[in-house]
Amino acid sequence: MKKRVFSGIQPTGDIHIGNYLGAVQHWVATQAEYDSIFCIVDLHAITIPQDPKFLKAKIRETAGLLFAAGIDHKISTVFVQSHLSAHAELTWILNCFIPVGWMRRMTQFKEKSERQKEEVSTGLFDYPALMAADILLYNTDVVPVGEDQKQHVELARDVAQRFNSIYGETFKVPKAVIPQTGARIMGLDDPTQKMSKSEEQPGRTIYLLDSPDDIRAKIMKATTDSLREIRFDANRPGICNLLVIYELFTRQGREEIEARFEGKGYVDLKRELAEVVVENLSPLQSRYRELTADSDYIDSLLTEGALRIKPVAEKTLALVKDRIGLG
Ligand code: ATP
Ligand code: MG
Repeated sequence: MKKRVFSGIQPTGDIHIGNYLGAVQHWVATQAEYDSIFCIVDLHAITIPQDPKFLKAKIRETAGLLFAAGIDHKISTVFVQSHLSAHAELTWILNCFIPVGWMRRMTQFKEKSERQKEEVSTGLFDYPALMAADILLYNTDVVPVGEDQKQHVELARDVAQRFNSIYGETFKVPKAVIPQTGARIMGLDDPTQKMSKSEEQPGRTIYLLDSPDDIRAKIMKATTDSLREIRFDANRPGICNLLVIYELFTRQGREEIEARFEGKGYVDLKRELAEVVVENLSPLQSRYRELTADSDYIDSLLTEGALRIKPVAEKTLALVKDRIGLG
């Protein structure tokens, strides 16, 4: 039996190279090795305000980009979270087993609520419970995510263990897998902030569907420092971020990259990086256009994905209800 992978992506905006390098490309690379489930987490997206038309369109766009990036619907299951009611139902149940103190420690809530101030929803606070439900419904072994989601996966582990210790073995205890490099791609305008879908700062983020000219302009304007040497040095976050992006797209070793740019200037690095990113995204963009030429095709794959996976979610939910004595 293959181990199960589960991971999700929010349809909150345009998928960017941070999502791709930190998560999606690893999903693609390991999909044959695992029994993989990838979820477009629209219930998570509404934890911050969303325009209905925008949300519906972004769900399809996000799915289209996952397929264009190489997720194979014949091997992996891709579905929309709100198509299966078990996610919301298990979240309520888990809410009753998660101490508020655990939730208060979540740094993503602190960061996102800081930005939203008084608009913050209860749903945003509860986001990690919904994520735990997503993962635990499918007896997940492995959750490949970027570094920012590590704390949430740990909470999912903790709640699984807590529930199992009260009611006996019910949930599989999942494990986060975070890539060694690229787990936190930083903003081009400000290398102290991660690239993010929902934070639309000009020049921060390279989106997978950006035009070559936009990609070039953003990279050429990227914030660096006043030094000269081109080195992988974590103390120089701007230049290090550009080098990491170069490393991940070219798959060259760090020594080789440093040797290549020995004696060269930041402008040379930026020019070359821009072309590397343009070249890497171009085939993905063509595939995206092909896949979305027929507007119903992505919807049909999403319906098929939900149908395929529904029995697994329902079985777990029924077991949980039985353990607790509901109904
Ligand atoms: P949002 O701003 O709406 O939270 P996001 O860009 O953080 O959007 P998510 O949908 O929350 O994207 O996350 C999808 C996956 O991408 C997760 O595995 C997450 O850890 C990863 N990820 C998000 N941002 C980055 C980044 N800057 N670098 C590497 N991985 C990232
Ligand atoms: Mg996020």
